[in-house]
Amino acid sequence: MVRDPLPAALPGLPSHVEIYEVGPRDGLQNEATVLGVELKVEFIRRLIASGLVTVELTSFVPASWVPQLSDAEELVALLGPLSGRHPVLVPNERGLDRALAAGVKEVAVFASATESFAQRNLNRSVSESLRLFEPVVRRALDAGLAVRGYISMCFGDPWEGAVAPNQVSAVASELAAMGCGELSLGDTIGVATPGQVVELLNTLADEKLEPDRLAVHFHDTYGQALANTLTALQHGVTTVDSSAGGLGGCPYAASATGNLATEDLVWQLHGLGIETGVDLKQLCRTSLWMAGLLGRPSPSRTVNALAASLN
Ligand code: MG
Repeated sequence: MVRDPLPAALPGLPSHVEIYEVGPRDGLQNEATVLGVELKVEFIRRLIASGLVTVELTSFVPASWVPQLSDAEELVALLGPLSGRHPVLVPNERGLDRALAAGVKEVAVFASATESFAQRNLNRSVSESLRLFEPVVRRALDAGLAVRGYISMCFGDPWEGAVAPNQVSAVASELAAMGCGELSLGDTIGVATPGQVVELLNTLADEKLEPDRLAVHFHDTYGQALANTLTALQHGVTTVDSSAGGLGGCPYAASATGNLATEDLVWQLHGLGIETGVDLKQLCRTSLWMAGLLGRPSPSRTVNALAASLN
């Protein structure tokens, strides 16, 4: 029985990839079950113990928007000081005030490439939402924080269909000009295929947005997340967003499959001989435990393939 990937390198890939774990935030905010704060703390501690260095913790949004994450202050306080990179999402200046008071070191803002999603998710036009983020980013930078900018619907949009790469690069350029250090390109409904990934990365490079400052955030709705990820790595991207156990269906895609599962990503990276520092079996155990808490199986292929061999 093979329970570890059999390593074989491919040329042209980075030697190290940063896994940006989104399970506790993007994952749990899209799950119907609301977990207590102690379980979230344990989840994050287990993720870090399995070797994940970068873990997005939560979102400082109003509780009425995302009841799943209404305990952001308490969560951060209970976690205490952590080694590694642990950003939180902030939707506006009020969210930033709360994040600053909680003592976080990095925040993320969440923009949209399309008008339809901006209206539905942010209640604003694309440009209005960017104006809203300007003081958030400026004040965060002034306070010495790093700022990540998410861009959702970078490839396809459920209401608008195809999304032109220059639509994405316009938003990306504005976020970069504000001072967002890292930009995460989201395939929010999981429709992208590898050719589109290359097209978008080329368009961004034309705007001086080089892959070393980009992250990719793929969803596995149509089974394309790993193919898209490999393509992005082959084109210079070294930061990949993923969610332990594939947590978090997308409310805008009629599928249980949402975020790329961190375990599936780790299997591929280790197979390619790329270091992650992640103990895959330990991570799978954590995702099986979480699936039990949520009362449904993990959608991760790797978690399920290894489940029987784990105790
Ligand atoms: Mg996601």
